[in-house]
Amino acid sequence: MLLAMSSRIPSLNPPEGRDTSRVSGEPTSATSPAQALDAGLYIVATPIGNLRDITLRALDTLRAADEVLAEDTRVARRLLDAYNVTAKLSPYHDHNGAKRRPEILKKLADGATIALISDAGTPLVSDPGWKLSRDALEAGHRVYPVPGPSALLAGLVASGLASDRFMFCGFLPPKSGARRKAAAELATVPATLVFYESGPRLADSLRDLASALGGGRDAAVARELTKLFEETRRGTLDALADHYAEHGPPKGEIVVLVGPPEKSTASAEMIDQALTEALKSQSVKHAAAEIAELYSLPKRDVYQRALRLKDG
Ligand code: SAM
Repeated sequence: MLLAMSSRIPSLNPPEGRDTSRVSGEPTSATSPAQALDAGLYIVATPIGNLRDITLRALDTLRAADEVLAEDTRVARRLLDAYNVTAKLSPYHDHNGAKRRPEILKKLADGATIALISDAGTPLVSDPGWKLSRDALEAGHRVYPVPGPSALLAGLVASGLASDRFMFCGFLPPKSGARRKAAAELATVPATLVFYESGPRLADSLRDLASALGGGRDAAVARELTKLFEETRRGTLDALADHYAEHGPPKGEIVVLVGPPEKSTASAEMIDQALTEALKSQSVKHAAAEIAELYSLPKRDVYQRALRLKDG
């Protein structure tokens, strides 16, 4: 049956069972059987909640790999058991990565096919694996992506915020001072910002984001994506901070997204003129706040400009 289908769709039929898609760029057939893997490191994405989000190619790869490196082998075993994948598992995480890398590179040099998975989603995205992929590439080995779920993209597409340009910012620092500083550095980035966050820290983080980026910025909190209690709450940063301060920390895993800053139509000359005028009767702080509000500009930038104008 497969052969008959393949002969009718020649462009999707790899000659002699070899997968030429990596060379030719042609897509492979969804029904083509699993191929033997070429040697190399396979970065395999796994579900972020809904087990059915595993891809066929991820399963093929995990079945065929000589070894599967897993952030937590118990978590990985549960996933593999659900699909009757009997792979050889070994731990690879932040605490043993440096020690394990030379041995893994040696296996790659010997022609092994090695897959890397994390507890959920795409490895390397706020998860271990970057140094391993870098070292593998530097040693001349192939690194193959086996794409699939990631909370960052799931959150982005559920948020209703601009998706044409976005910046993934990982986890913000746990302490408020460092968090505000990190957020302030992002205030003028003309893109949707995506953060990973935990329930207990959510309300404080939203408050710090509001103070650093402007409480009126559109934002979204995407929680438990692909799971039973999936929820996406949208509002301004101020409104979301108030909501979670009032209702207490939500359960589950969270992505926070902040829409891009509104573009100000004011020219630099207009802003300087308005600031100069405001500085005649107000302190630097108050003048900057007023003009930032007036022209929808980040307070921090206007404050710096006001300081320079004041100093002559
Ligand atoms: N590598 C993963 C990925 O590609 O999404 C992320 C790993 S990071 C250690 C875990 C964080 O991702 C969680 O703290 C949460 O912020 C976010 N996350 C993971 N699964 C999620 C889900 N189902 N819903 C919302 N956020 C999730």
